[in-house]
Amino acid sequence: MFALVRNPRIFFRDHSKLREISAFWSEKRLEAEPRRSEVPMAGLATFNFKLSQLYPGSGEHMLNTCSNPDCSNFGQPMTERAERRELWRSKRPDLTPEQLKLFETNGPGAYKLAGSKGKHLRVSSSFQFEHNPHEWSDQRTIQCLGQTRDGAPCKSGFSILSPVHLEEEIDRLRNYNGVLDGPACGACGIRLLDKPDEFALNGTHERTKDRDGKPTKKKAAPKSIRVVHKPCKGKKGARFSVSLPHAGQKNTADNLRILAAILNSAGIIDIQRTLSIATGKSIGMSRIYDRIAWFEEVYLAYEREMLRRWKAKVEKSGELIEHRLSHDDMVLTVNWETAADRRNTQLNCAVTADARSGYVYRLDVDFDPRVAPLDVFNSTYLNEDGQPQNLSQEYPGSKVASAPKFSWQRPTGRFHESQFFGACVNEIRAFQIRAKRRMPKKTKDQQDERKEIIDRTNGMITKIREISEGWFGFPFNDTDERGSFKGVTTRDTYTKGAHFALLKEMLPYGSIVLTTEQEATLPPLLPHIFDQEIRENRFTWLAMSFNKKATKPERQRLVNGYRRARKKFRDQGLYDGRFSPDMDEQAITEAYIASGLSTALRGTSSPFQISNYKTKSFPSLWVKSPTEASGEISKVVGFPIVPRPFRQSLKRIPYDQEQLDVDLRAELSPLVYKATLQPVSSFMNSLRTRLSVADRADSGGARVGGSYIQGAIFKPKILVSILNIYRVHYNFFEERSYACPYAEIDDLIDPPVMIQRGMPIPGTDEFIDLPPKPKRMPAKKTPAMRHGMDAFTKKKDGSETPPDLYRVLYRPWLYMGTKLGARFERSRKTGKSKKVLSEKQA
Ligand SMILES: [Zn+2]
Ligand SMILES: [Zn+2]
Repeated sequence: MFALVRNPRIFFRDHSKLREISAFWSEKRLEAEPRRSEVPMAGLATFNFKLSQLYPGSGEHMLNTCSNPDCSNFGQPMTERAERRELWRSKRPDLTPEQLKLFETNGPGAYKLAGSKGKHLRVSSSFQFEHNPHEWSDQRTIQCLGQTRDGAPCKSGFSILSPVHLEEEIDRLRNYNGVLDGPACGACGIRLLDKPDEFALNGTHERTKDRDGKPTKKKAAPKSIRVVHKPCKGKKGARFSVSLPHAGQKNTADNLRILAAILNSAGIIDIQRTLSIATGKSIGMSRIYDRIAWFEEVYLAYEREMLRRWKAKVEKSGELIEHRLSHDDMVLTVNWETAADRRNTQLNCAVTADARSGYVYRLDVDFDPRVAPLDVFNSTYLNEDGQPQNLSQEYPGSKVASAPKFSWQRPTGRFHESQFFGACVNEIRAFQIRAKRRMPKKTKDQQDERKEIIDRTNGMITKIREISEGWFGFPFNDTDERGSFKGVTTRDTYTKGAHFALLKEMLPYGSIVLTTEQEATLPPLLPHIFDQEIRENRFTWLAMSFNKKATKPERQRLVNGYRRARKKFRDQGLYDGRFSPDMDEQAITEAYIASGLSTALRGTSSPFQISNYKTKSFPSLWVKSPTEASGEISKVVGFPIVPRPFRQSLKRIPYDQEQLDVDLRAELSPLVYKATLQPVSSFMNSLRTRLSVADRADSGGARVGGSYIQGAIFKPKILVSILNIYRVHYNFFEERSYACPYAEIDDLIDPPVMIQRGMPIPGTDEFIDLPPKPKRMPAKKTPAMRHGMDAFTKKKDGSETPPDLYRVLYRPWLYMGTKLGARFERSRKTGKSKKVLSEKQA
């Protein structure tokens, strides 16, 4: 309700405009499409729904609303027709009956249920439908009945998603699958890091006396600190101990070696082998897993703290930032757990990075390692007595009294469900194989027991299949969709949505220019995640494609050709007087782009973009860019969302308009200039080179890899941890030069220095002095240093180096900013100053 009245003024403020729309509608209304939905197929019984019965709400991120920023329904959740009539009748008593009617039929919140696609058709034939199978569609589409700014019917369509599933996914990824959850009150579950003020320090665990009973030195580092949750004082679990994560490690000497192995390794077995050779001792697998978990926590906590400080610094400075972000996907293949199940599955990684610095903000994997499928199945779909539950949605008082739950209603709808159900069955099958092999079968009793176990577990399989196939209609396939027993792949729509929602949380206030490829999941998500930014004209979404398959020599040739052409263009401009010698390099490049832009088509006459981007919500013109600056050759750029008022004028241009006038070129060229995927490609390339688990999975080209590697057992959970460790290391600890896409033009990074030059006179030891020439010496830096985070150590000579890794690892990053953190820090600082003091005295 609140959202309905949130922003309707914008569109209907102007009475004359309203009249225009009314007139338009009185002519056009009759053209509405005939109803295609709800046609019974092949004689099976069906369910007939109204949208209001199915609509799951919109949630904080306005899912299930129109995603066209120029539609009266943009971000407006569905309302009932009668509700709209009442609202506008009381709100605007001056409306004529015709105008009121318009609000009623097409005002904010007007949607209808549209057709369903064949691929989502399901048949339920178990339980109450056993003798009367029902056909239904698991995915439904909503059609928008709103109007766009130019008075046309919007008609955008979108699939129903679950706001709850999106929130769950955001909660999962915010703390990286619980890695950054920190300790919580044992009585009520409130987390220390969520509400640090509710917790009080309650003593430390320190030895006050040594072995001989003499008092120990004061101010030694506390091993752990007792904390009490004040509101729960006196209850069981309200008082608990917090220790630094490395406190439990018996041996820390190998830590940096383990880290180096993780960052350069092919797999866990290799890490173990490398370490054993280096140390001469064999190192247990559990210690390696344990250290991987520890590195992940310390690294992610460190990064979160550095990001928090950076955000606070930028926001305090009042500087208005333009975030230039690039987003792309990477597919990684992992072996599943058992060698018996020689199969690997693809995990999708969503990566977003900053274009200027190369800083990689997030890498999110569509895999939830916290979940054990069989446990989730049992607790979700079976009650305490083992009877099915949670299968149907009730629609009291309607023709459809009860029907199988849809994906957005099912508690497991956040997961890739066919893999989820497959994993449940598969885990039992794997158990049966092991049981048959290991259980003794000599005596009659043993044989009976063995049979009893197999029968019982077969019964479990039957139950799972009855629910997944018989009820929800998931086609069961024995060869595919096996899934993991420890963790589940998630639906990438929700993972993507969460990725961007959390990205936004990390950024200081500013405007955003986001470049992506044409990913099908993005159009229904991005306009909602960046709703606020779009309304405030702070969001630009550029979609681009370029020739990824070009060979290196080919790329080099084109890049050189571009540099020559641009130089010629610049010289010509100087000669003509269009440019002045002190003109900004970026302005010259933009002018060059403007002069060379051309309309991009697929073939000779079709729109360039894929169907998900061929919507009325987005401008249809795509352009070819003449720049080949950073190896992104044959760059083609589309403009799904740009700020107003340019957005509206751009939407009026047809996709095949040949003549692009001067004004249009001038507006498009700065956007084309900014479009790049360079920072994500740089990161992915480095990841592929360094981690062979990523290399093997390279989806491009012939699939030479993709086979199960004996011995390289890889838990997806460990892969996710390694990716997190790798990313933070890449951001903070590895200096390298970064080819910024704006490198030749962006002097903000690595400004050129004047180099004194001399030319030797042959046969003498004399030199002729030549005038100094500016030379760009790309300093090797970490992305975090380029990004303006104070994550470096300043040396005496003024140079900057990455932070001391050893010191970073043993500080209480997770608790920074809390009383607890201060306590852990104080002890560290006292220790340090003492050391310095004793050195001075010596
Ligand atoms: Zn719309
Ligand atoms: Zn509590």
